[in-house]
Amino acid sequence: MDEFSLINHFFKSIPIKRKDVLLGIGDDAASVHVPTGMELIISTDTLVSGVHFLPEWNAFDIAQKSLLVNISDMAAMAAIPCWVTLALTLPNLDEQWLDSFSKGFNEVLNQYNIDLIGGDTTHGPLSITVTILGLAPKGQKIQRRGAKPGDIIMVTGDLGAPALAVKFLEKKDIDSSHRSVLMDKLLHPKPRTEFCSLLRTYATSAIDISDGLSADLSHICEASHVGALLEEEKILIHPLVTHYLQKDAVDLALSGGDDYEICYTIPKKHLDDFLKELKIQNLESYPIGVIQEDTGIRLKKADGSSVEYKPKGYVHF
Ligand code: ADP
Ligand code: MG
Repeated sequence: MDEFSLINHFFKSIPIKRKDVLLGIGDDAASVHVPTGMELIISTDTLVSGVHFLPEWNAFDIAQKSLLVNISDMAAMAAIPCWVTLALTLPNLDEQWLDSFSKGFNEVLNQYNIDLIGGDTTHGPLSITVTILGLAPKGQKIQRRGAKPGDIIMVTGDLGAPALAVKFLEKKDIDSSHRSVLMDKLLHPKPRTEFCSLLRTYATSAIDISDGLSADLSHICEASHVGALLEEEKILIHPLVTHYLQKDAVDLALSGGDDYEICYTIPKKHLDDFLKELKIQNLESYPIGVIQEDTGIRLKKADGSSVEYKPKGYVHF
């Protein structure tokens, strides 16, 4: 099998389902229809073997994660994910690996009504780059900038489990049912696409938590020229993180990455309406603090004292 039959067999075979795809895999470029009144939202994420996943992991899981983290970026912008391209760098042509990869990828494509419209296939150390394209009504995407002093900081779910999974990769003496819960959190993030319309209506800023809550919140703060006061007791920590780390749990929830929950801000005067809407839509989110004029992130302890918290998270260089 050469590069071209590989593309045909594993990727061109994935059917196009969307009517807005004018040209899919097979030409020098793809083409899609962007409806009047909508803007195109674009994001790219690369997963590198040994950095974002281990080469021995299931190709099915690696494929799903590479797509899910990109969908999460669309969710954070309050955009609807529509199309992706896939740039694959492969160390060898392993048909079984590719079969499993394309099945995992296709399953998530179907789940989110996304079409694979192109890509690139090259030889080299294993790495996967997905570019995702989505739509948002003109002027209605949510950005990192926009948070205002007094806005309430919200998070869509509990934190720390994926970072604990990474911490425990080489630890032998952990309960196997705990390990599988943690690995599932690491391998199958749940992009919060269901928050799209609520964020669009109410949020002043948003970001998905990929590098760790404190690091990602500090991106909102920098872009918005504000600071944040977090209440330690309000940060929702995954129960297994508390179970294994006790006192250190909150630090992992603040600094661990790979959560893919959304951190966003809501003006205080709209909070009651927003919380009512959340309930109606059967969605959950937790207020964890407030945006302040003073820059930097402060952490309010249970005893009422507050300390400066230096944002910590994953950085590549
Ligand atoms: P070119 O030489 O013009 O760059 P390629 O031979 O790289 O074209 O790709 C041929 C077609 O296959 C293109 O439409 C490209 O988008 C698509 N393609 C290549 N690799 C992948 C992949 N891994 N997944 C999906 N589509 C791919
Ligand atoms: Mg090419």
